[in-house]
Amino acid sequence: MLKFVTTPRATPAKRPAEARTGDFHEIYAEFIDAKASEQAARCSQCGVPFCQTHCPLHNNIPDWLRMTAEGRLREAYELSQATNSMPEICGRICPQDRLCEGNCVIEQSGHGTVTIGSVEKYLTDKAWEEGWVQPLTAGPDRGQSVGIVGAGPAGLAAAERLRELGYAVTVYDRHDRPGGLMIYGIPNFKLEKEVVARRTERLAAGGIELRLNFEVGRDATLAELRERHDSVLIATGVYRSRDLEVPGVGSEGVVPALDYLIASNREGLGDHVPDFASGRLNAAGKHVVVVGGGDTAMDCVRTAVRQGAASVTCLYRRDRDNMPGSAREVAHAEEEGVIFEWLAAPRAVRDEAMAAAGVRAARMRLGPPDSSGRQAPEEVVGADFDLPAQMVIKALGFDPEAMPADLAVTRWGTVKADFRNMMTNLPGVFAAGDIVRGASLVVWAIRDGRDAADAMHRYMSGVLSDDGAGALIAAE
Ligand SMILES: Cc1cc2nc3c(=O)[nH]c(=O)nc-3n(C[C@H](O)[C@H](O)[C@H](O)COP(=O)(O)OP(=O)(O)OC[C@H]3O[C@@H](n4cnc5c(N)ncnc54)[C@H](O)[C@@H]3O)c2cc1C
Ligand code: SF4
Repeated sequence: MLKFVTTPRATPAKRPAEARTGDFHEIYAEFIDAKASEQAARCSQCGVPFCQTHCPLHNNIPDWLRMTAEGRLREAYELSQATNSMPEICGRICPQDRLCEGNCVIEQSGHGTVTIGSVEKYLTDKAWEEGWVQPLTAGPDRGQSVGIVGAGPAGLAAAERLRELGYAVTVYDRHDRPGGLMIYGIPNFKLEKEVVARRTERLAAGGIELRLNFEVGRDATLAELRERHDSVLIATGVYRSRDLEVPGVGSEGVVPALDYLIASNREGLGDHVPDFASGRLNAAGKHVVVVGGGDTAMDCVRTAVRQGAASVTCLYRRDRDNMPGSAREVAHAEEEGVIFEWLAAPRAVRDEAMAAAGVRAARMRLGPPDSSGRQAPEEVVGADFDLPAQMVIKALGFDPEAMPADLAVTRWGTVKADFRNMMTNLPGVFAAGDIVRGASLVVWAIRDGRDAADAMHRYMSGVLSDDGAGALIAAE
């Protein structure tokens, strides 16, 4: 260990931009065995591992890095999967620069972080290849059932844990495939769909019932599900797109980001998508402007490049240092030919015969910090500029959809749940993931799903009371 002094940081090989923009495959190759061990051996085995503290799952990173360095790959995998329901997915798509790797001590001392995410991905991909990933085995039947609304990472992580504890588990989802945003939001070039599908197939083979094309609110009410099951988890994510409020936004060619990404993902999965076939949700040959600076915007710009757009420009009203998206994703997008107009906000969509033809944008600058300490963008007078755009993608973030009237929500519309036991105001109804946090990350959804499952188990075992907000009345 401690090889960081002599071994430079290396990531798995990244495909050249010209090659990767011609398809939707993932952009990183796999670590070869020797490289993974070499990179894991750079870890300094800190007494207080900040990487672990800053991983939402508190993964036991230094220990599985040591085992990898020593060639004890199966043990390393066993340890990494003990705290993470989907390590190969987190290894691929966590913004490590803000979580584990950003807090690695050797990164802080200027040597370059241990490539924790790549090693985590390598270990679990290896485990699938070698047959180390065990089938899901249900615990002794408890005669109790749970209903989980939402087959995203929060719902699936909870489902797995509850099944292991011996509950009958039904997951309801309004989509035709399980996986939530991991299937229909995040593009293939970040997370190939087979990686998600083999996880969900393992859950189904372990006896978890997946009721797809089932929308709670349309096919059953929450109250009906509560009657049907001993407890219920709401893990429905956030899907109401924030709108752009400028003249011309109703023009043909102005589309919400998620509609665009879902169409692209469905095409990749082999579905027939009429709006893609008609060109409405296909960027091929068009000048495209994406408005927003988060991960969704980055996924849209990179998808448009792969679809063969004539040009792709991202408009973000703050600067590069203040954008919410991952710096790594911005770098990938730039390599792939995306133009970034920092400090720019749309003023109007210009249309010709009701179809988008361009965007008029205002130049911005950062003003004095507001009460939160963040500098608010303000317009630079007389500095407007025009961009051609036959497609304008609105990637301004998501809010929760309306919830049943008796469920308490916050002023942002997210479900109110006590973070200690994840219970809502309705006894026996729990909540997890984006619907509680607002738009967040897969790793946080997994953490919430696991915590909610533990709390539901306490509740159904009679350890957690169902009065009021569901106080914890005894430790198990
Ligand atoms: C474009 C995009 C890119 C992203 N990129 C990343 C990334 O790189 N890394 C990262 O960590 N995170 C990323 N995220 C965020 C991440 O995907 C989410 O934080 C995470 O998926 C939330 O998990 P969840 O289980 O709470 O909800 P979701 O994944 O949204 O799953 C919720 C599920 O509930 C279902 N549902 C909703 N309402 C109902 C209903 N009434 N009845 C039945 N089913 C219902 C939905 O169909 C869906 O399947 C991205 C998000 C987007 C939109
Ligand atoms: S789950 Fe995410 S934050 Fe945690 S170790 Fe893995 S990549 Fe890092």
